[in-house]
Amino acid sequence: MSTIAAISTAPGIGGIGIIRMSGKECFSILEKIFVPINKTQREIKGYTIKYGHIIEPKTKEKIDEVLVSYFKAPKSYTVEDMCEINSHGSTIIVQRILELCLENGAIIAEPGEFTKRAFLNGRIDLSQAESVIDIINAKTEKESKVAMKQLDGFLSKEIQKIRKKLLSLMADIEATIDYPEYDIEEVTNNKILNELKQVKKELEQLEKSFENGKIIKDGIKMAIIGKPNVGKSSLMNALLKEERAIVTEYEGTTRDTIEEFIQIEGIPFKLIDTAGIRKASDEVEKIGIHKAKEIAKECDLIIAMFDAHRELDEEDKEIIDIIRDKNAILVWNKIDLIPNMESEFKSIILDKPNINISAKNKKGIEKLYQTIAEMYKINEITVDNAALVTNVRHKNSIQRAEQSLKRAINCIEENTPIDMISIYIKEILENLGEITGENVTEDIIKEIFSKFCLGK
Ligand code: GDP
Repeated sequence: MSTIAAISTAPGIGGIGIIRMSGKECFSILEKIFVPINKTQREIKGYTIKYGHIIEPKTKEKIDEVLVSYFKAPKSYTVEDMCEINSHGSTIIVQRILELCLENGAIIAEPGEFTKRAFLNGRIDLSQAESVIDIINAKTEKESKVAMKQLDGFLSKEIQKIRKKLLSLMADIEATIDYPEYDIEEVTNNKILNELKQVKKELEQLEKSFENGKIIKDGIKMAIIGKPNVGKSSLMNALLKEERAIVTEYEGTTRDTIEEFIQIEGIPFKLIDTAGIRKASDEVEKIGIHKAKEIAKECDLIIAMFDAHRELDEEDKEIIDIIRDKNAILVWNKIDLIPNMESEFKSIILDKPNINISAKNKKGIEKLYQTIAEMYKINEITVDNAALVTNVRHKNSIQRAEQSLKRAINCIEENTPIDMISIYIKEILENLGEITGENVTEDIIKEIFSKFCLGK
């Protein structure tokens, strides 16, 4: 494999900048462009740092004063010879050092290519490689903890445990096929059935863990809808300014919008910017009912807002219709305008939580948080228990494995010849192998690593 180089620190000015190289030529390229202060110590040892200067080899001009970390194969991130040049964090300098690496034999790394090499060289499996992007992109502490566990191999171990069981079953089946004279088929069938039922339980548990895993990773999409002037923006502001809510501006990777995130008990809530949607729509449009419908379609939770000190009108009723079959909380705003309304409900509509608030006076916001937390059982979402599936690709593979498993169990129950069962077990093994990377196409690998940043 060729020697790759890339800038690993984020673009822009920073305290330090890091340029990474990996591959066979890494140290020989480094020798051309790096002059350590201590020239007597020529031997390269892994896990050491040398201090010196990056120079332009032809002119000997000093480009920067740097520290270089050495990692020798196989004990490195990529399992290859690697080095990291820590320079001053100037865009010009890191770029120049990268150019020097490239001029002297390295090629520019593709996004995620360092991690891809760690995977291709067998240090980590595919699910662990994917967790690296999750760690980098994590928006909450919980998300980062789950990703870290995945990198530690929590999920991989669980999958490997199931695969091992299935491989041992395959061996039993093959023995039955190879030695039919021993008449062990019946015993084997019972054993296989029991084992498969156990595997079924384990897969179901993994699939179920995705409910929480998805919430931890993707968060809950929440929108505030209601007719103009009920106080949507005021509530949005109250939520964003609330001390409990840690607001992160998050540049959407798939859309060009700035999305607002708040955290409730460590769970990210993506606030759909209805104000933005409203701005984009026709100025003369009196009420964004059809916009509200669109938003309702794409979000997990709707906060439907009404003005508590006014009677409901047709537009409010349309909002109620929109949320009828949705996960929604009805919020009655402006209770400060009604005497003695602080603790009573104006009215309870639909079999959904109804909450009185005053967005202006920040009254009832805490209750709204509590209701949301209870709705999603947020307090029960812990990251410390068994393996948690957070990645939709993994969940899909588990579901496919479950389908093959169902067919295998049916086969046994219907006394189908045993070699048929082995076909389905092979399928399950392949499905699970998609998660760890034993059974994936080059295209999938390409797609996964294309989501990485440069230099990782
Ligand atoms: P939106 O059009 O639904 O986003 O509503 P806004 O948040 O812009 O609020 C419309 C008007 O209602 C503004 O004048 C707010 O100050 C006012 N308002 C919002 N919430 C409250 C509240 O809880 N009490 C009172 N008295 N006025 C409020």
